[in-house]
Parts: sequence; structure tokens; C-alpha cells
Amino acid sequence: MSDLYDVTIIGGGPAGLYTAFYCGMRALKTKIIEAKNDLGGVITHFYPEKTIYDVGGIPQITGEELVDRLTRQAKTFQPELITNQVIAGMERQEDGSFKLISTTGEVHRTRKIILAVGCGTFEVNKLQLKEAARFEGKSLFYAVRHIQQFAGKHVVISGGGDGALDWAAELAPLCHKVTVVYRGTEFTHALEHQMQRLKSHSVDIRTDSEIVALTGDDILQSVTVRNVASGHEILQADALIVNHGFNYGLGTLESWGMSIDDGGIVVDQRMESSVKGIFAIGNAAKYPQKVYLIAAGFVEGPIAVNSIKQDLDPKAPAQAMVSTHHEFFTNKKV
Ligand SMILES: Cc1cc2nc3c(=O)[nH]c(=O)nc-3n(C[C@H](O)[C@H](O)[C@H](O)COP(=O)(O)OP(=O)(O)OC[C@H]3O[C@@H](n4cnc5c(N)ncnc54)[C@H](O)[C@@H]3O)c2cc1C
Repeated sequence: MSDLYDVTIIGGGPAGLYTAFYCGMRALKTKIIEAKNDLGGVITHFYPEKTIYDVGGIPQITGEELVDRLTRQAKTFQPELITNQVIAGMERQEDGSFKLISTTGEVHRTRKIILAVGCGTFEVNKLQLKEAARFEGKSLFYAVRHIQQFAGKHVVISGGGDGALDWAAELAPLCHKVTVVYRGTEFTHALEHQMQRLKSHSVDIRTDSEIVALTGDDILQSVTVRNVASGHEILQADALIVNHGFNYGLGTLESWGMSIDDGGIVVDQRMESSVKGIFAIGNAAKYPQKVYLIAAGFVEGPIAVNSIKQDLDPKAPAQAMVSTHHEFFTNKKV
């Protein structure tokens, strides 16, 4: 039988990582379970190389660097860290603790649960062409994770959303050529400054068009574009970036009995959901005046953890000793 943990945090995004650190400040036996094979949540998957300016005390930092720092901080008290496991099932035990069950059948035992699941599990919408899989990860990408890998290349971007236009503007100054292929007639959500950046970098824009075929052995050589009015055209391409949005959702977590409002888990001022013992923090949590910022999880996590600590040990102080006076760190200095 697996060990019983005080707290299991589901989700290894920024909120989950910081909360694992704070659990250590309260001497709680902690486990984090993350669905993807890497930590960092949407930062890692959508904007690792973007610069973040609105985390208190850090004037600017890339997404990747922030995740690296959060991960190192999360490991301070050595929580159990599990990746590549999607938690789907939950069973309440007679003693009030929980069993968590992953989609692949692993079972985890825990006294309390913190859901730091953001918008839930997310999967990108893939290009619906049978040859696409052959190029994936080599010259067909569903996210820009390392911008320099595209330097000097002819890059075709499929999609017309915010992300597609943002990548086009970022890549254009370092690429040989950037072409955006979009099946809509107009970029309805584009901001004025975004369109100006595309223009100033001479990004080639093809509206009313879609990619219908890819050519090359394992490495892409060209894409065939079909335009509603002018028909087919072959464009030389070294790399294709597809931004067709993504599918996300809480999935089976919605059937755990918690009150859910517009995809968010409704919590009280203790960050507890309507199911006793299950807490929610970060983008997953919903309450009046909720702020969807990385920094929000840095406060909501400690609120949940302090509530849990007092539930498990009613005599425990309301919050952890501040880090400047915390015995773990003062002992470390000697
Ligand atoms: C393009 C973009 C730019 C942004 N820029 C900024 C910015 O400049 N400043 C800022 O403050 N915020 C920014 N944000 C918002 C910020 O990224 C989020 O507020 C933050 O990531 C929320 O953190 P989280 O840990 O709550 O959730 P997430 O980052 O979404 O992490 C949740 C994690 O839970 C995992 N998970 C979900 N379901 C399960 C399950 N069933 N089992 C196991 N694991 C599961 C997911 O795989 C994911 O890793 C931006 C967001 C985007 C998309």
C-alpha cells in the first residue's frame, strides 16, 4: 500500500510548486503530481522564453528561469515529486482521508488535497493531415519553446489567433522569412500594435487560406496552401508552427462533487472547495475579485496550507514562522 501523505498537490505549475515549498515550512508530508512530463504549467508549455515583468520583487525574468527558480524552491523540503501522471479519480476513505487514482491506475493516499490544476489538462489541437506526425518535433511544432532554433529559416505559421500573431512578430526579425496562413478573412482579435509589428517586419500574410499538404522526407521542404479564391500554391518552408488552439478542461475532476463556476473551482476564504478536505488555488480557484496572475498562487497556496495545518493539528499556529526566523533556515546558516 502506498504511503499516506498529509497533502497531495495536483498540478506542478507555479501555484503548485510554490505551495509545495510552503507545505515544507509547515512540516507537512507533501507530494506533487503533475500530468505533463515537465513542471511549470502553462509557463513551460506556452511562453518559456517570454519575459515576465509582473512578479513582485523580480523586475524581469523569462518564464523558463522563473520555473527553474520555483522548482528549486519547491525542492527545499524534499517533497515527493511525480510527473507524467494525470489524476482522474478520487475516493473518500472511512477515516476522512482520500485515495487518488491516476488514469494509468496508480493510487496515492492523502489526508488533504490541493488542486493546483489551472484550467485542467491541456492538449494542443493538432494539424489534421496524415503526414503531419512524420514531421512533428523535427520541423513541425505546436509551440515555440526555443526561438533561436528558427534563426535564418523560412517559417510558416498556421493560425490566426493571438499566439500565432505573437510568434510571427517575435520570429520575423531573426528568420529568413515568416509566412502566416490563416483560414479566416480577418484577424478579428488582433491588436493594432500586433498588426503593425507584422507589417514592419514584412511578414507574409495569407488569409482565406489553409495548409492542405506537407512535403519532405523527415524534414519539411514545402507546404501546399489552398486559398479560397486562387487555389493551390506551394510554399518553400523549413519549419511549420501550428497554433490552432488547445483543448482543456477539468475532465473527471468535475465529478468529484465540488461546486464549479465557469470552469473554476469555487472556494471559500480558506481556499477550501465545497467538498471538505479538497482545496483549490491558482488559476483553478474561483472567488469574487479573483486575479489570474502567477503571484495570486503565491498567496492562495499558503492560505490553503495554513488551513490544512490547523485542520490536521488544531493547536498549530495560524501561519508558519516567517522565513527570516524559521528554524529550518536559521539552522542552515550555522
Ligand atoms: C501566453 C500567456 C502569458 C501569460 N503571461 C503572464 C504574465 O506575464 N504574468 C502573470 O502573472 N501571468 C501570466 N499568465 C498567466 C499565468 O501563466 C497563470 O496565471 C499561471 O500559470 C497559473 O498557474 P497555476 O499553477 O495555477 O496553473 P497552470 O500554470 O495552468 O498549471 C497547472 C498544472 O496542472 C496540471 N494538471 C492539470 N490537471 C491535472 C490532473 N488532473 N492531474 C495532474 N496534473 C494536472 C497541468 O498539466 C499544469 O501543469 C500568462 C498566461 C499565458 C497563457
